[in-house]
Amino acid sequence: MTTLSIDWNKMDNLVPVVVQHHYSGQVLMLGYMNPEAVAVTLQTGKVTFYSRSKQRLWTKGESSGNVLTLISLSSDCDNDALLVQAIPAGPTCHLGTTSCFSGLDNQPFLGKLSQVVAERADADPSSSYTAQLLNGNPRRVAQKVGEEGVEVALAAATNDRDNLVDETADLLYHLTVLLEQQQVPLPEVIAKLASRHQ
Ligand code: AMP
Ligand code: ZN
Ligand code: ZN
Ligand code: ZN
Repeated sequence: MTTLSIDWNKMDNLVPVVVQHHYSGQVLMLGYMNPEAVAVTLQTGKVTFYSRSKQRLWTKGESSGNVLTLISLSSDCDNDALLVQAIPAGPTCHLGTTSCFSGLDNQPFLGKLSQVVAERADADPSSSYTAQLLNGNPRRVAQKVGEEGVEVALAAATNDRDNLVDETADLLYHLTVLLEQQQVPLPEVIAKLASRHQ
């Protein structure tokens, strides 16, 4: 989990740290650590930076409660930067967004899709198939997931590769709509997959 080797002399005792969401892969923020911040982060399991403005150790979330629970800490190819994987307790940016690099563009595509689908819940059903599904008979969405699942299986059974790609896309889209309708967040599903991966 932790491969750590930093050339502190080269870096004047301060390395940039990219923080990434453990489940979604989304980049959450950038901070700096000195050797003490690295030690405290590893000891406590709470991501702790050296704040250049505060000129002291800063445990992210110390006042907001939005701590970053450490999953892994690793250095890059030439030992002058760190990557932290963490699980955030709440919005990481002090402006209230999940990521300091806000916006859909910094999200893995399935996360982006599930956010767009959620926004369609309030759209006009005559102009949006997603809005139609979300505002129609709830059983229709479950039925579509079943149908698309069967279509995926058929495409695989007949070795129809192009069709398999199409039908898998249909299935993932309808699953995303189903999760939105049932109010199950995608990160919860990813967390379940990750928990089986130890
Ligand atoms: P927190 O560490 O979340 O308790 O926030 C304490 C203070 O740290 C905030 O008032 C901000 O000044 C600063 N801060 C919090 N989160 C960030 C962030 N992601 N990037 C930069 N500064 C932050
Ligand atoms: Zn490097
Ligand atoms: Zn921010
Ligand atoms: Zn289909």
